[in-house]
Amino acid sequence: MDRRTFIVANWKMHKTPEEAAQTAESIITSLSSLPATADIALAPSFPALLTVAEKLKDTPFLLAAQNVHTEPQGAFTGEISAPMLKACGCQFVIVGHSERRQYSSETDSLIQKKIRASILNKIGPILCVGESDAQRNEGRTFKVLDKQVREAVKGLSVTDAEFLILAYEPIWAIGTGKTASVDQVQEVHAFLRETLADCFEKDLAKRIRILYGGSVKPSNIKELIALSDVDGALVGGASLDPETFVSLIRNGL
Ligand code: PEP
Repeated sequence: MDRRTFIVANWKMHKTPEEAAQTAESIITSLSSLPATADIALAPSFPALLTVAEKLKDTPFLLAAQNVHTEPQGAFTGEISAPMLKACGCQFVIVGHSERRQYSSETDSLIQKKIRASILNKIGPILCVGESDAQRNEGRTFKVLDKQVREAVKGLSVTDAEFLILAYEPIWAIGTGKTASVDQVQEVHAFLRETLADCFEKDLAKRIRILYGGSVKPSNIKELIALSDVDGALVGGASLDPETFVSLIRNGL
């Protein structure tokens, strides 16, 4: 089953709209000939979505947001809805990132509603799941991931699930410089694909892309992407500097 490689830059709370646009421009210029088999998305902060969208216009690069509200509109001060993201040109949105689970107390059931809101607006949710250090050491990795996936996709039809992207991001590997070993990554990705097959159907599970995230850098992307159930990467720190991100993409494709 051929799945297009997908590399997503998560810029988190970095870069002003102007800085984000400049970074996007450098990346696009350096990668003027992207392989037709790969997708690259940039996820800037909300205020930078439009300036980055302007740079991505008429290029194969894709735009992603880092969060979304469950409701389409209303009295939710400080929130951004899926129709608003769509109007900014977003094709994808990161949902359930561990930083949001940790610092904004996002639960699996809230994440499920965000996924539904995204899909309703034809935005592909990039659902992040991952275990903590303590959970891994206690042997609970698969139990934790199973619950995160099943609760987040509850109620989705097979047609809805065609929009879904999964990202395995072990919390202990995010921003720490510690990458999961290739054996750990492949073992979890295969498990996640089986879980998706159980939630939906085998053929669909084979089509859903599963990204790895957690200290991915130019030096380790190749071995990660070579794994049979790894379809790309969600990249934080190493996506901020355009030269580093471009070399990561070149090494990975
Ligand atoms: C992330 O936050 O999604 C991430 C993977 O960060 P980093 O690459 O910096 O570990």
